[in-house]
Amino acid sequence: MNAPASECLFCKIARKEIPAALVYEDDTLLAFKDIFPQAPVHVLIIPKAHCEGLGDLTTETAAAAARIPQVAAQLARDLGVMTGGWRLLNNCGPDSGQTVFHLHFHLLGGKALGGRLCQ
Ligand code: 5GP
Ligand code: ZN
Repeated sequence: MNAPASECLFCKIARKEIPAALVYEDDTLLAFKDIFPQAPVHVLIIPKAHCEGLGDLTTETAAAAARIPQVAAQLARDLGVMTGGWRLLNNCGPDSGQTVFHLHFHLLGGKALGGRLCQ
């Protein structure tokens, strides 16, 4: 059973009830540093409105999520990884390894990320 929005970890971060190292915010999107970074740059980009994953998009969350690649590219520039290269990825559902069931994209960079997309 996944958490309702009232108990969802990333909803709590979006409502500023739990601290996070924010790197970007606008009306509908928030980006913050991953608490267990897997690369020198590891940022999570989320719609502020609750949505479990890409299989659960609403008109509202789809509109927000559609802007994530553009925000990720701006963050890649701002965080200094545009030239070296970076990766934007989403885990959706149990087999993907999704652990937080509020839609989020990982922005990773700052080192050679390797060629494997799955084990
Ligand atoms: P997933 O495995 O669902 O794709 O990614 C969830 C990510 O959320 C993980 O990389 C994990 O390190 C990160 N994370 C889990 N709890 C917290 C937290 O409380 N704060 C932050 N900033 N990141 C978290
Ligand atoms: Zn949520």
